[in-house]
Amino acid sequence: MRKRSVTKEQIKQFALSRGLDLFGVANIERFQNAPRRMHPASIFPEARSVIAVGRRIIRGGWRGIEEGTYWPTYTHFDYHGLLNTFFIPLPLYETACFIEDFGYEAVPHFPGVPETQPPASPLRPGGVAPEVQLAIRIAAMAAGLGEIGWSKVFLTKRFGPRQRLAAIITDLELEPDPLVEPHSICKLDMACVEGCPGAIPHIRENRFVEIEIEDQKYRWADVDFGKCTLMFHGGDPRLSPFIPKAFPGYHFDVTKQNLSEEAAYKFCWPMSLGGWRVTGEFPEGYQTPGHAYIAKWGVGGSYGVGGSRGCMRSCFNYLEKHGLIEQTFEGGEFIKRPRWLLDAHGRPAGAGPATDSG
Ligand code: SF4
Repeated sequence: MRKRSVTKEQIKQFALSRGLDLFGVANIERFQNAPRRMHPASIFPEARSVIAVGRRIIRGGWRGIEEGTYWPTYTHFDYHGLLNTFFIPLPLYETACFIEDFGYEAVPHFPGVPETQPPASPLRPGGVAPEVQLAIRIAAMAAGLGEIGWSKVFLTKRFGPRQRLAAIITDLELEPDPLVEPHSICKLDMACVEGCPGAIPHIRENRFVEIEIEDQKYRWADVDFGKCTLMFHGGDPRLSPFIPKAFPGYHFDVTKQNLSEEAAYKFCWPMSLGGWRVTGEFPEGYQTPGHAYIAKWGVGGSYGVGGSRGCMRSCFNYLEKHGLIEQTFEGGEFIKRPRWLLDAHGRPAGAGPATDSG
C-alpha cells in the first residue's frame, strides 16, 4: 500500500491556523542524553520526531499584578488557566488528529512536572517506570523553538519569555529544525535577577545547570525553587497583599528560608487554599481568602500570586526595550511606573513602624 504523505510545512501551517504560535521539530536522536523517565521514546518507543509547539502568554495578562491592583487575569487565562487547559490543548489535539489522518500515530503531550514523579517500578522487566514526563523546555530547545534563559524560563525570538509549551510525539519522520545558538536570545543581562526578589542567582555566583544537545551547550541559573515557589504561590508577604489581611502580624522573610521546592509547595498550598472556620475575625472560611479566590478563577488547580516579577516581567521588559524580541507594542515599555514590593511584614515600602512585635 502506498504511504500517505504529509510535509512538515503542511503540519506547521495547520497547527498555526488552529491558533498555535510556535512550531518546531526535533528528531528523536536529539534526546540521547535524556533520562529514560523523561525520554519521548519511553512514551512511544517507535517515535521518530517530537514536535514542540507554543502559544504566547499575552503581555496584558500581567498588567494588574504589575500595577498591584488585579490578580485573576494571569491565573485564569495565562498561568495554569485556559492557556494550559484549553487554548493550547485544543489546537494540539487537532494537530495530532491531522497527523493521524495521514496514517502516523501522534501522542499529544500535556506538559507535566518531572520533578513530581513519584518513586515507581517498571511494569515490565527492564522497562521504564510509569509517569514519564518530558522536560518540556528541553524538548522545545531540541526542536529549535528557542533557548532556556538564565532565569530557567524558556525564551523565543518572537515573544521572549512569554509562551507556554506542549508537544506531540510521533512516528512520522520529519526534518528537524536548526537548534538556536546559546545566548542568541538570552543576553545574560541579569534583568531577571534584579527583578526577582531572591530566587535566581547572579551569574557571578557561578551556580548553573548545563546540558548538551548535539554540539550546543546550554546553561542557565541553578534557581532556588524553594524560594521561587514561596514567592510565586503565595508564601511571600512581599508579593502578596492578601497575606497580611489573612494573618495580621505575620512576618516572614523568604530570603532566609531554605526549603526544597516540594516543601515550599506543601507550605504554600494549605496556607493559601485551605479552609478555616468562620469567625468574627475571619468571616471568609479560607486560610488566605485572596489566594483562594484567585485559585477559584483558575482552571485545573494551580494559581499564581507572585506573577513572575523578575523571570517574566523584568525579562520581557528588558528584551522589548532593547529591540531583542520580535513582538513590539505601541505603548512603550511594560514597566511604566516605580514597581511595588512590600516588606517582610507585607507593608508597603516606606510605611511606618510595625504595630506588631515581629
Ligand atoms: S532577563 Fe531574560 S534575557 Fe536577561 S539574563 Fe534573564 S533570562 Fe536572560
